[in-house]
Amino acid sequence: MSHSFVPSPNVASIQESATIAVSQRAKALRAAGRSIIDLGAGEPDFDTPPFILEATKAALDAGATRYTAIEGILPLREAIAADATRRRAGRGELPVTAGEVVVSTGSKQSLQNATYALFGPGDDVLVPVPSWVSYFEMVGLSRARAVGVPGDPKRDLKVTPDLLRAAATPATKGLMLNSPSNPTGAVYDAAELQAILEVAAERRWWVISDEIYGRITYSGTAAPSVLDLASSRDQLVVVNGVAKAYAMTGFRIGWTIAPRALSQAMTALQSHTTSNASTPAQYAALAALTRTAEADAALAVMVTEFRARRDMALDILREGVPALELVQPQGAFYLFFKAPGGDGTRFANQLLEHEGVAIVPGAAFGTPEWVRVSYAAARPDVEQAMRAIVRQWSA
Ligand code: GLU
Repeated sequence: MSHSFVPSPNVASIQESATIAVSQRAKALRAAGRSIIDLGAGEPDFDTPPFILEATKAALDAGATRYTAIEGILPLREAIAADATRRRAGRGELPVTAGEVVVSTGSKQSLQNATYALFGPGDDVLVPVPSWVSYFEMVGLSRARAVGVPGDPKRDLKVTPDLLRAAATPATKGLMLNSPSNPTGAVYDAAELQAILEVAAERRWWVISDEIYGRITYSGTAAPSVLDLASSRDQLVVVNGVAKAYAMTGFRIGWTIAPRALSQAMTALQSHTTSNASTPAQYAALAALTRTAEADAALAVMVTEFRARRDMALDILREGVPALELVQPQGAFYLFFKAPGGDGTRFANQLLEHEGVAIVPGAAFGTPEWVRVSYAAARPDVEQAMRAIVRQWSA
């Protein structure tokens, strides 16, 4: 008798993460001897700052090798809460407390904890389009329905209160927000965020705000956070982590700030899935969040370099392809533009095949006409890849 695998309904329609798949393919081609420039990965190419590595080693030497509380070590949750409270200075609301923080294995798990705890069968969740690939799947895994809301091309593909209202149904229970945006690099300004929060409050929608790129912006200040703006945190989940701002992708530390009852439900869920996030990695994150002068200095170096690459890439693309339809990136480290012939998948394949440059087709983000290019790669590689894009444009 053959025992072939029949996927359960839980995963029957799940797709592997396209952003990860592109990087894996680039790595495989490289291993096979091809010279590849990988602009697929959404991962800073910088080393983790040495002071964080030293703190991690010291924590290991001091015995940070055992289980911690499911929701994370108290000093880390206190540091996260203190950071969030600083952001709310002057709003007169209660400070964020450690009890509202759950630390998880990367902000991916934080997002999944939140969608799973909040949504279920019969619920609709608004997902701006384009959006990062995993929001659609995470909502689907919760057995809720992800309702794509195409962003306004005149506003860097951002959604507006009117677009959200038009897409809403009586079943709408929540909204995924992400600013700075992956894949576009667009940043919602305070007024835009405020207006969206007002609609959400009026309709009693939950807002899950993924702020993982919040500190990687080109305006000189952090992107506005819903924590700065919401009049109440009753239906707010803020997701963040150390991966992008401190070049700590492999540490896998993310967190949620959410009302206490929801945090308790997410902690219970996590107690059955992964338990606490890696103990030494929690101490690494604690160093990143508490040794702020060193962390800020490392971040500033990274952002300055990202800005230089972004400007160079934009110059080459705009000169080489004057009609390019592109979002002006104000944060994160992505360029998002419409592919020639409106076929992002074909263009991404063509670039990989003929030029050895890996980028992510926009289909991964709900926008098949577009492509995403990450400039988290060495400057000469970014330059070479932009010239390859220009060459292939009319090929
Ligand atoms: N978030 C990054 C990206 O969009 C890392 C890969 C992933 O987790 O999707 O490329």
